[in-house]
Amino acid sequence: MTDPRPETAPTGTLFRNVRLLDPDLGDGLSASCDLRVSGGRIAATGTLSPAEGETVIDGRGHLLMPGLVNGHFHSSVNHMKGRLPSLPLEIFMLYESPELDDLRPTPREAYLRTMLGCIEMLRGGTTSVQDDCFFVPFPEPEIIDAVARAYLDSGMRARLALDQPEVPELDKLPFLRDLLPPDLAEPLSRPARRSAQELLALYDHLIGHWHGAGNGRIKAAVSCSAPQRVTPEYFAALDALSRTHDLPLYAHMLETRLQRVFGEDCLGGRSLVRYTQDLGLLSERMNVIHAIWVDDDDLDLLADSGCSVAHNPVSNLRLGSGIMRWRDMLDRGIPLCLGVDEAIADDAISMWGVMKTAALIHTLDTPDFDRWPTAPEILRAATTGGGRAMREPGLGTLVPGAPADLVLVDLDALPFVPLNDVARQLVHCESGTSVRLTMVQGEIVAEDGRLTRVDEAALLREAAETFAARRPAMARADKRMERFLPHYRAMYDMASARDVGLRRRLT
Ligand SMILES: [Zn+2]
Repeated sequence: MTDPRPETAPTGTLFRNVRLLDPDLGDGLSASCDLRVSGGRIAATGTLSPAEGETVIDGRGHLLMPGLVNGHFHSSVNHMKGRLPSLPLEIFMLYESPELDDLRPTPREAYLRTMLGCIEMLRGGTTSVQDDCFFVPFPEPEIIDAVARAYLDSGMRARLALDQPEVPELDKLPFLRDLLPPDLAEPLSRPARRSAQELLALYDHLIGHWHGAGNGRIKAAVSCSAPQRVTPEYFAALDALSRTHDLPLYAHMLETRLQRVFGEDCLGGRSLVRYTQDLGLLSERMNVIHAIWVDDDDLDLLADSGCSVAHNPVSNLRLGSGIMRWRDMLDRGIPLCLGVDEAIADDAISMWGVMKTAALIHTLDTPDFDRWPTAPEILRAATTGGGRAMREPGLGTLVPGAPADLVLVDLDALPFVPLNDVARQLVHCESGTSVRLTMVQGEIVAEDGRLTRVDEAALLREAAETFAARRPAMARADKRMERFLPHYRAMYDMASARDVGLRRRLT
């Protein structure tokens, strides 16, 4: 592994007189105490005296909590927040990521857009991200490097995967082959621009150059995007990579009703979960993303595999995908994490909004209020659940030995005055404005609403100018995709009309 920028181990820090978040305690708070950080990890908690050379932070009146983990994210569209109306996933994707050379980013654009996400996340106390990064029109080493370097420079902890399907578009969707006229079907029947072999070579680049960079802060992950978007051979090769290097494997499954219909019509009546299990690829390393249109058998398979499920409630609402089976998953012991999904479908990059939405949306699922999410459950999903999905032992906890990814929250700020129940107020009242300090791996990376390692103002100015200049290309791309719209809409309507034996939307 070549570390492009070796980092010196941060000096120690002592937080004094802080209250620690403990969702398992009655009021969610420990008594006032001290917490020592050394070598990028939590060294001790209790009553502690400053050591020589240690930075001391007086945390009186503050809560110290684990950094939030954005468990599922696509940084590729960080510059597209608010760009599209609410649309169903399959139509949304037509406009979001068409494989057009017009939309190919420069390395600087990829760096800037990734940095936009880092700024938003770190300011608000999100310290880790799992970036299921897709590349338009295909991945290239310079773009992979630009994305990874932005994470490295910003100070974030990140897992980075290459979310790149390698089967033709027409093989990923039901009905479309019959719906499209030949001149439109032809471009969608072509093989993907990068073969499985080429993609695996790009993984060699990602792992060789970046896995373990920044003293282990930047790591690789692998992604099939979704089981129906890759060949079984490539899927198996990704699983082998995941096993060899102990990497999370990202797989979107059953986000939409249409994907359930795909299984019925194109996978011999099997769901995508069952199909993945039949391939022998459902494992505890896998992050199953969305998992909305799952039946009881799917849930049992997910539970038996030990995989994590990434829940993206804001994106699920924005795209009208439906309500995920939160309590049914927890009942089976399925580990859950929470994610933003992407800036074009959230459209904030805020885990606070995600947590609040997760806490609220499931009240629609059942009148049995004992089965509604609790604030401690939501906080656990956004911290330890994310750490587990990322395969980072201890991440999301405040126990000695855990990575020192910490957030200092001002308990005198409005969301906490008066302080009634810290867990509920974190989930329902806080929006990130009370975060005073964000630490990753023992280093302060944001303080008083500003990143410490980069020139935010210059980056934001450059991003605004750079992406404004891109607008005409995006408009041209929209225009080119318009001709596909009636056919995609017909496909969507056909899937919507099908009774799939599950109800995950109100209608
Ligand atoms: Zn996603």
